[in-house]
Amino acid sequence: METKIRKIDKNQIDENIINEAGELLKQGGLVAFPTETVYGLGADALQEEAARRTYEAKGRPSDNPLIIHIADYEDLREIAVNIPPETDMLAAHFWPGPLTMIFEKSEAVPYETTGGLDTVAVRMPEDPVAQALIRAAGGFVSAPSANTSGRPSPTEAEHVLEDLGGKIDMILDGGAVDIGLESTILDMTVIPPMILRPGAITMDMIEEVIGPVRMDESLISADSAQAPKAPGMKYRHYAPNAELIIVEGDLREEILAIRQLAFEADRKGHPVGIIATSETLPFYKYGVVKNVGTRENEKTIARGLYRVLREFDEENIDTIYSESFAGQGIGEAIMNRLEKAAGHLHIPAADVVKLQKYRRITFVSGTDSARGPMAAELLRHCDLAQEYVINSRGMVVLFPEPANQKAEAIMKSAQMTLEDHSSLQFDEEDIQEDALILTIEESQKEKILSEYGHPDHVFTLNEYTEDDTEIPDPYGKPLTAYGECFEVLNRLIKKLAVKLNSLTEEEKWQEEQ
Ligand code: AMP
Ligand code: MG
Repeated sequence: METKIRKIDKNQIDENIINEAGELLKQGGLVAFPTETVYGLGADALQEEAARRTYEAKGRPSDNPLIIHIADYEDLREIAVNIPPETDMLAAHFWPGPLTMIFEKSEAVPYETTGGLDTVAVRMPEDPVAQALIRAAGGFVSAPSANTSGRPSPTEAEHVLEDLGGKIDMILDGGAVDIGLESTILDMTVIPPMILRPGAITMDMIEEVIGPVRMDESLISADSAQAPKAPGMKYRHYAPNAELIIVEGDLREEILAIRQLAFEADRKGHPVGIIATSETLPFYKYGVVKNVGTRENEKTIARGLYRVLREFDEENIDTIYSESFAGQGIGEAIMNRLEKAAGHLHIPAADVVKLQKYRRITFVSGTDSARGPMAAELLRHCDLAQEYVINSRGMVVLFPEPANQKAEAIMKSAQMTLEDHSSLQFDEEDIQEDALILTIEESQKEKILSEYGHPDHVFTLNEYTEDDTEIPDPYGKPLTAYGECFEVLNRLIKKLAVKLNSLTEEEKWQEEQ
């Protein structure tokens, strides 16, 4: 079937398009349309056959009921019975808007629409295109998210086309949606009402209007023995093709852990995807990094989540790591969707980070112009199991200078370079707990120990590599002396790399025991 695509502007609605779409729905057709939450796949909610077509197009299990969308509050009474009194207050506050309420269904609603249940889910969307379409279609439009079942919900018309192109009659393209996550579902058939799916209308917002409500327990803990009360919540959902893993901890730890995981994966030739935010983006060097939104306004994260999950399906990656988000406000809905997309896979950031005893390695020489920078550059060229910040410093640096020219010549002959080097004085800032400080000479170590209160992470390079081959000082000598110095450093640095890698491996091994 040909899927017609009609662009529509919500600020200037073209009635002809709405009438064409409404007519299609009345005839039992399927029309995808924008709502403020996600794109919906519209069908006439009171026609059994239309509901059947909806399930077929989405590949949705038929026990997963549809939400009926209305445009006028009076219409609720035609499809629901025994409507509790709090409903008026909730509707006055949140309708039109991203709140779905569940009631006992009336005879008018076919079981095909409710997935065999005696209850019916109802929402009044705010998007003017959605409202116009609902009215044009006769007032009752069932509309699950307009995606293939299991894929991330569509937040742009393009996503709908990707999933349902050729399977439905029409797509109304109203641009990107506002909220980006599906509506909050509140079950009004129980006392007190129960939230079956978190969304942009939060528990706090609802409680401010009608007092205490409950949260479906199965949403709170992954290992709850109970099945979720909204049938749709039990299915794996929103899932990208790659395995998605949520990294959890404080933000700093999360960044360090994801950096390390991405570094290791890159080293093995399997780059990973990373779900990052505007604030954390600059910290990632490896992997396919995508910005989901800004932490300053979590609404932007809600809006970007499904788009980013879909974009990862275009990338050749097996694993995606995501930072986590605050479980408050809209953050609760974000985490709920992320959890479902991840199939509840988590890694505590601290578990990754604690395997890293050192995160920086600083070589210290006299003037930071030859042996220190050479050692640093040699180590940067080693295959390390962990990502380190590798630097060099000098004990007597009066002003920044480029590396010694003979040192540079020797490095060049080994396909390395010190051309970006500029000498720097060692100072207090270099004494951080996560820094392994390796001096070229004993005297430099002694000086640091006595000046900075005997930190326990300062060693001579000889001592740390358990190799006492003297590192000759080539200063003022011919090029050959620099060559000899290079040979010794090369050997010591190779030993250092083996030791550093065994540190990581050993700690990992112990961890696993
Ligand atoms: P979607 O429209 O794709 O966001 O899916 C609709 C969601 O509403 C699914 O999770 C359904 O299981 C849920 N839902 C719809 N009707 C009911 C109902 N009568 N009782 C409980 N959950 C429902
Ligand atoms: Mg859905």
